[in-house]
Amino acid sequence: MEGEDKGAMRGGKAGAEKGGSDKHSKTSTSANKSAVVNAPARSEPHANREKRKDVGGPDRTGKVAKLIHRDGRNVQNEEDRKARSMVNTGVSGGVPLSKFVDLESYMEPSKYLRLHKLSQVEPEQAHVLRLDIEHQVIQRFEDFEAFFAWFKAHRDDIMQRVKLRPGVIRLLSMTDRDDMMQELLDGDLLKGKSSSKEGVQVSEALWSNVVKWLSSKGEIDRALEMVNQMREANIVPRVRTYLGALTYLSEKAQSQKDLDYIRQIHGTMEELKVDLRDEEDVYHLYFNCCLRVAKAAKANEDLSLQRLALSIFDDLLVNWFFKSNHVPGAKTTDILRERVEIDPDHTWEVTDDVVVDADSGKCGCCSETLASIEPSPEKIEAMLPDLIEYLKTTMHNRMDRDAAIESFDRKINVPYDVLIDAANIAHYKQNFGNRPRWSFVQLQQVLDAIGPDKHKLVVMHRMHTGKRHMTEAGNREAWRKLTQDPSVTICTIESGNDDLFWLLAAMKANVPFVSNDFLRDHVHTLLSSPEYLEWKERHQAYYRMYRLDALSCQNIDLYWPPKFSIRAQATQSCWHLPYRVVDLVDFSENENALPGNIPDDFRWVCFRRASSSSNGKT
Ligand SMILES: [Zn+2]
Repeated sequence: MEGEDKGAMRGGKAGAEKGGSDKHSKTSTSANKSAVVNAPARSEPHANREKRKDVGGPDRTGKVAKLIHRDGRNVQNEEDRKARSMVNTGVSGGVPLSKFVDLESYMEPSKYLRLHKLSQVEPEQAHVLRLDIEHQVIQRFEDFEAFFAWFKAHRDDIMQRVKLRPGVIRLLSMTDRDDMMQELLDGDLLKGKSSSKEGVQVSEALWSNVVKWLSSKGEIDRALEMVNQMREANIVPRVRTYLGALTYLSEKAQSQKDLDYIRQIHGTMEELKVDLRDEEDVYHLYFNCCLRVAKAAKANEDLSLQRLALSIFDDLLVNWFFKSNHVPGAKTTDILRERVEIDPDHTWEVTDDVVVDADSGKCGCCSETLASIEPSPEKIEAMLPDLIEYLKTTMHNRMDRDAAIESFDRKINVPYDVLIDAANIAHYKQNFGNRPRWSFVQLQQVLDAIGPDKHKLVVMHRMHTGKRHMTEAGNREAWRKLTQDPSVTICTIESGNDDLFWLLAAMKANVPFVSNDFLRDHVHTLLSSPEYLEWKERHQAYYRMYRLDALSCQNIDLYWPPKFSIRAQATQSCWHLPYRVVDLVDFSENENALPGNIPDDFRWVCFRRASSSSNGKT
């Protein structure tokens, strides 16, 4: 069945191309378009291909026919005919559904199928389904004429369907029908469907769209009041809830009142713990708002307002520095350049292409030292119970999990400086056969490269110490050396995820770990929390092993986490923004690539507040 279907699709395309080159048949196609739409589904591929050859015509018609063929094949002819007849008679209110059927050719096949099924459901349900489909098509094509006709005809039904409301508001806010919008707002727009047994709740999307509309009208007070009501209704605002207001303010802000709005919005977002780590663009809106006010104040010679705007800018900037561990985009640097140019009190030196010393973390321009930004010991401590609970879930369910954790704790009760992810190193580039080989030789080489000064805690499953792994060349000898090395403690585990065991040991002692693993298996767990990611960034050491040629011995490069965080940060009197000068290669995809946090790959822009300017003294 699948093959036949594919054949028909290929045939359809070829047929359409052929037809497209023939002007005569093209004309006949557009005249017969509705006939094509109404043709009963043909499941026999050859007949279909022939038919399309006859008809020819533009791709779109071919696509319609193809959709009918694909999705109509399971619908019996009689039902199919009924469905099509419903489609063509149109809906009450003068919006013929065939208007949308033209657009159908651009719809997903699954939606098309739903359209077919209209004939198989109760009239009540069919009406609801049809409203949904019409809604989707109108939304997709932003057809305002159809929208108004549709809305006028079915207003009560549409407003009963809570899930249609956000889309209605979205479209309405793109028109100038403020009167209609206001009328809806005065009505039950933001009230749930009380008649429903489930008590359907009005969605965040609907509230956000209303807030956005008010914001676009410059009614920021009302918009923020709406956010308050939203919170009273137990609906949590998201970043997008505020985007309209922030965009408006970033383009129109002039006064202290606008600064108050910014502070209010930022304060609420902080209170709600909205995740702004990846929202550099949102901060650009904040910054631009402050800059606009500062510039307007400067033009009006209102020095205190200018200072206020810039001090809010600076607070927001530092707030963002602490949130985002990303390397900022060039736009952020440009905004900062604008900011320092209108400083009434200080002159700034802005230096590009600055090198920060990898060992000391000292800026090559201002000599101030960049910091390592990482979770406090208290925060790390607070993460451990969740990690242990998660670790227990990975253990065999017949074992005593608490006892296993206690036993592990006893084993790691030695001083250690670094954790070793043995499996990651022993399997590195060992993917030759069905199962990756386990190389104690490699493990020993990496431990040697770390050196005898650091005490290394190696965590691995006990099964890897079995006889099976000792038959590989050199493994027995390497294993013997490992077990006799006084700077190595080997800790074997019986059951559970080994990554989580060594992670637990590394976090307990707050020491680095050597692994190229990104722990992607755990991406939807506590290991995707901002605190954990920040800790990992500051504690993961990477390695690379390679031979210069077939005969030479293995080279090992170790990349310890840099002494300082490679992220935008403020020092005593400067701001430092890194930018990448060596392209990042996806380390997880390419074993020869380098990790992302190598100081040599970055240069910095140093913004140095140099001296008081003459303006400030007046
Ligand atoms: Zn500097």
